[in-house]
Amino acid sequence: MGTLLEVTGLGLALGGRPILAGIDLTVARGELHVLLGANGAGKSSLAYALMGCAGYRPQAGRILLDGEDVTALPLHERARRGLALAWQEPARFEGLTVADYLAIGGRREPAECLREVGLAPEDYLGRPLDKTLSGGERKRIELAGVLALEPRLALLDEPTAGIDFLSQAEIEDVIRALRRQGAVLLITHQERLAAGADRASQLCGGRIVCAGEPAAVIANYKARRCRRCDGETCNG
Ligand code: ADP
Ligand code: MG
Repeated sequence: MGTLLEVTGLGLALGGRPILAGIDLTVARGELHVLLGANGAGKSSLAYALMGCAGYRPQAGRILLDGEDVTALPLHERARRGLALAWQEPARFEGLTVADYLAIGGRREPAECLREVGLAPEDYLGRPLDKTLSGGERKRIELAGVLALEPRLALLDEPTAGIDFLSQAEIEDVIRALRRQGAVLLITHQERLAAGADRASQLCGGRIVCAGEPAAVIANYKARRCRRCDGETCNG
């Protein structure tokens, strides 16, 4: 399969506070890799650092995408190289229609991508991407946007949070579609989604404390389930 993403020794501080330390993570081509961890463990911060979001430049370590060091590259350069992120909290874009949004950088037919996230294109393509859409609708549209990009690596940050009406089967279809053309790093609390991954990593206190077979990582995650991470590593 070959390695697509290789993260070594990544360390990140935000506002002078250490958030991530010594992160080693590899994702192979075609792999579904699940990232587990309590709230506050650093999962979203890791996704932002991988995507190259402003303010999330790591202080240590490096990020290789397909063998190329992208650690110092800004977000748009990483996007050009096939990285895409679906945010935990999707943004609103006043003045942009759903059709416009899906067309930006999109390689696939917007209507087809909407259908794959369970939205009827005729009901949504002409609508503005603003507060008239529910949070769940925006999350689906954002997933459709990631599908349209055909990314080499899709970073999905809790794609089902807030869209309980998106069924397990539907999200599995989205993940399957993304894996056809690349790899997926999926942040989720849903055990069933995690169980279907190729590999999993558990983040705790900003460190990877367990990685490998999903069943083993899920078991470790459940053994001492923290509701909220206090920033300290508690279970190795
Ligand atoms: P998760 O996605 O696993 O719930 P986050 O990555 O959102 O965790 O947050 C990890 C930790 O980093 C939390 O303690 C959070 O408060 C802190 N954090 C996130 N963003 C910032 C920031 N911009 N400045 C300071 N601390 C932050
Ligand atoms: Mg998060």
